[in-house]
Amino acid sequence: MLILTCPVCGVTAEETEFHAGGEAHLKRYGPGSSEENFEEYLFMRENPKGVHFERWRHVYGCGKWFHAARSTTTLEVFGVYPAQTVEPPAGLKSAISEKQPGWSWRGFS
Ligand SMILES: [Zn+2]
Repeated sequence: MLILTCPVCGVTAEETEFHAGGEAHLKRYGPGSSEENFEEYLFMRENPKGVHFERWRHVYGCGKWFHAARSTTTLEVFGVYPAQTVEPPAGLKSAISEKQPGWSWRGFS
């Protein structure tokens, strides 16, 4: 069972109280960008065996979106942080690297 803590309201609950919103930190290119950039934004997703970053919404609580760093193999949640964050917090990245040396995801490590 996946247990998440909403960083907005602080409630800790099972994943059924939340809704997964897909991969976090997708780069959306502006007007005039290439079709390859738009294709990348729409379709290209990481599917790692290990830690990745994803969006979640607290649907049966405050309704706010947030980001979570989670392992796809162990369901260990390394941390959660507000969705308005452009990049994962440095402390979170170092905690992941400490537990999984050599880890990287979409240029973050
Ligand atoms: Zn909440």
